[in-house]
Amino acid sequence: MKIKNYINGKLVDPQSGKHLDIINPATGKVYGTIPDSDARDVALATEAAKAAFPEWSKTSAAERSRIMLKVSDLIGENLDRFALAESTDNGKPVWLAKSVDIPRARDNFAFYATAILHESSETHSMGEVGFNYTLRQPIGVAGCISPWNLPLYLFTWKIAPALASGNTVVAKPSEITPATAFLLSELCIEAGMPAGVLNIVHGLGQKVGAAISEHPDIPMISFTGGTQTGATIARVAAPMFKKLSLELGGKNPNIIFADCDFDDMLKTTVRSSFANQGQICLCGSRIFVERPIYEKFKNAFVERVSAMKVGAPTDEKTKVGAVVSEPHMEKVLSYVRLAKEEGGTVLCGGERVILDGEFKDGFYISPTIIEGLDYNCRTNQEEIFGPVVTITPFDTEEEVLMMANSTKYGLAATMWTSNLKRAHRMANNLHMGIVWINCWLLRDLRTPFGGVKESGVGREGGFEALNFFTEPKNVCVKL
Ligand code: NAD
Repeated sequence: MKIKNYINGKLVDPQSGKHLDIINPATGKVYGTIPDSDARDVALATEAAKAAFPEWSKTSAAERSRIMLKVSDLIGENLDRFALAESTDNGKPVWLAKSVDIPRARDNFAFYATAILHESSETHSMGEVGFNYTLRQPIGVAGCISPWNLPLYLFTWKIAPALASGNTVVAKPSEITPATAFLLSELCIEAGMPAGVLNIVHGLGQKVGAAISEHPDIPMISFTGGTQTGATIARVAAPMFKKLSLELGGKNPNIIFADCDFDDMLKTTVRSSFANQGQICLCGSRIFVERPIYEKFKNAFVERVSAMKVGAPTDEKTKVGAVVSEPHMEKVLSYVRLAKEEGGTVLCGGERVILDGEFKDGFYISPTIIEGLDYNCRTNQEEIFGPVVTITPFDTEEEVLMMANSTKYGLAATMWTSNLKRAHRMANNLHMGIVWINCWLLRDLRTPFGGVKESGVGREGGFEALNFFTEPKNVCVKL
């Protein structure tokens, strides 16, 4: 696969003439190249986006909606091709990409394409004196930077609201998983998206991402990725007074009370721990279990997890595919070693898995459960972002709340209980952007999405995103 940039409506090579390899994590082999773009390509993309902005921002909502719905339909029609590309890039099971990633990317476009048909803005009456009305106007060129774990899903989660609200976009997918963003650029051409409205520049974060953050003609940046990268972008963007939306790391608690629906909890906890090889920012990697059911949970959980098939992403029976890259595999395994040094016991997994044949050099890790660690140790405080969870018993609500809130992150928490009062009390006191009660990753695209503390700044989702990508202007009228 030879990936190209999408600038001013055309698929083009980078100014440098250089390319970078992309690796299939399931086989460990190079399977294509991406442009090694730099500030020159970002400058061209920004110029094109700036030139396209006046017309796109004045295009009626109905027409913007029509074009975006066409893109959405085309993603749906290409489901199989996109799912295979996502899996080849990322290592996730094809069935997962087909049932989650690609349908969600299709829905992101449809959701924002239709949301703008139902938008209205406020008026503030001053009685007989006068009134104010609020205009929500698109801002200009939006910079959208996304990570590798849910490649097209998160890429479109930013691009769709930016475009729908009348901005033009310079976007950068992760250099590790660029394939579906490239396929999307082909679909945009097919859907008749005007030239320059969406531009996609491929390449390294330090070159392309940094150039987007630094560009004076990109006044807003929507970023999803690691906390450190978010801090770097914030340092660059703050003196330029850019609008920033930062969706960053997490270390989410999964809190299990003894009065929960055990079977439902167990089934969902297997998923919330290991879906997408544990590489979802919302995965619950710290599992706290009320002491009376700790042993029962531990035995049942270890049995289920040990039976999960680690295998090739193309195999329908695979539950755990490859992690995204060799460096990432090494990072995750280094945390298993650290957990042992910190006194933890590995109850299952914890090792690289070597598959047969063409998959023998792929990056596979068996799903790992660790117990016996202090809530405060590094393994329980730092983001691992792989198929590794810890389990810890607790005795009281106060104790588990303290442990759950103890990290520098505050993205999401999951809680299992049949005690309604406790559920709401806990939800109120968890210092997180998102709380799930008796469920996990049950998503309604209208709801605010994001974290507190070092998990980020700002919210995506619903009208929150449309508000981010517009500037409110108050107009005051004296009667
Ligand atoms: P990353 O921060 O390494 O990279 C994210 C993106 O930023 C990539 O496109 C990368 O090329 C780019 N980038 C790197 N350096 C840059 C720089 N100096 N300036 C601008 N852009 C730069 O993150 P990752 O490893 O791709 O993704 C994993 C992280 O993302 C995890 O920490 C995870 O928790 C987080 N994440 C958060 C959410 C959320 O919604 N909060 C969702 C998914 C993933």
